[in-house]
Amino acid sequence: MTDTDTADIEKTVAQVKLLADAGSEIVRITVNNADAARAVKEIRLRLDAVGCRVPLVGDFHFIGHRLLREIPACAQTLDKFRINPGNVGRGKRRDENFETFIAIARDLGKPVRIGVNAGSLDPEVLGALMDENAKLAEPRDAEEVENDALIASAVQSTDAALALGLPADKIIVSCKVSRLGQMVAVYRALAERLEQPLHLGLTEAGMGQKGVVATTAALSVLLEDGIGDTIRSSLTPEPGGDRAAEVRLCQEILQALELRSYRPSVTACPGCGRTTSTFFRELAQDISRHLENKLPEWRGRYPGSETLTVAVMGCVVNGPGESRAADVGISLPGSGEEPRAPVYVDGERHSFLQGAGIADAFFQLVDQYVDKRWGES
Ligand code: SF4
Repeated sequence: MTDTDTADIEKTVAQVKLLADAGSEIVRITVNNADAARAVKEIRLRLDAVGCRVPLVGDFHFIGHRLLREIPACAQTLDKFRINPGNVGRGKRRDENFETFIAIARDLGKPVRIGVNAGSLDPEVLGALMDENAKLAEPRDAEEVENDALIASAVQSTDAALALGLPADKIIVSCKVSRLGQMVAVYRALAERLEQPLHLGLTEAGMGQKGVVATTAALSVLLEDGIGDTIRSSLTPEPGGDRAAEVRLCQEILQALELRSYRPSVTACPGCGRTTSTFFRELAQDISRHLENKLPEWRGRYPGSETLTVAVMGCVVNGPGESRAADVGISLPGSGEEPRAPVYVDGERHSFLQGAGIADAFFQLVDQYVDKRWGES
């Protein structure tokens, strides 16, 4: 998701392109006022002009029904609308606003994500369940009631959208919370109750390592269960930091779970007392950089090369085994070992490298492997 003011067309186009170039397959932009809604068409045109076709999702809160109705070009241009059922109004007004929003999507054939969020949960749904709970002889934990309210809001809104004629395959559902345990419980229940695709994300995951770890843990548990169709990581960037970090994190998670491949992977051991020099660490780092630099070229020229696996290991203990398991692997000599490094290709010992030119010779070998395996014959 972008964090630019959508009305600032230039900045928004640049950031959408940054995210798309990093590999994002859908980009959400906030549409929070009339200026933002009026900017949407121009944003699309400028992205198309530079060949960036990434689908755009409009994130609507409070006045989405009005913006979509009053600025038709915005509605026509967006590929998907996100509605938060917790903030479309209250009582009768809520139902009317929701109906207007869904009717526009239905008539234009646009999909809608019903995006419930714990931070803006429909107070009527939550209040009713809290009242019921308070009457129980043994009231349940407040979080359990909140979970029920999140699920009820998502299910009721989905049913309402279906009743308004939005086709079942045009609805995506999400229930964002900021705690792992709660997220897992809510999504497992949603997966049982709904047939619609689910969008996963741990909201407000935070900054730095904390955000990365929390997001990875939460998404991994659900994805391993087969739950989740689209994902997002909600990292708070450092001031001036790289917005595309959230895209790379999602890719890393999917790749680690072996659900998708985005870039060649390097297996490297952590090193220990058997490695008395830092050479193998440097080689592991250099080969990672080499692969990253080659990525843009290889994507176009060698489709499939993103599944390449390379091993760079520090000694004979696990070196040969891990190197055999990779497409191309090198087992560097640890302390007291003969100063030569066996190289393995497709599980077989291929050659020995030694001397000052080990790194360059190994890069060359990897490049040749990619060309031979994924190049046009
Ligand atoms: S492969 Fe060798 S150097 Fe690397 S961690 Fe294992 S024992 Fe240590």
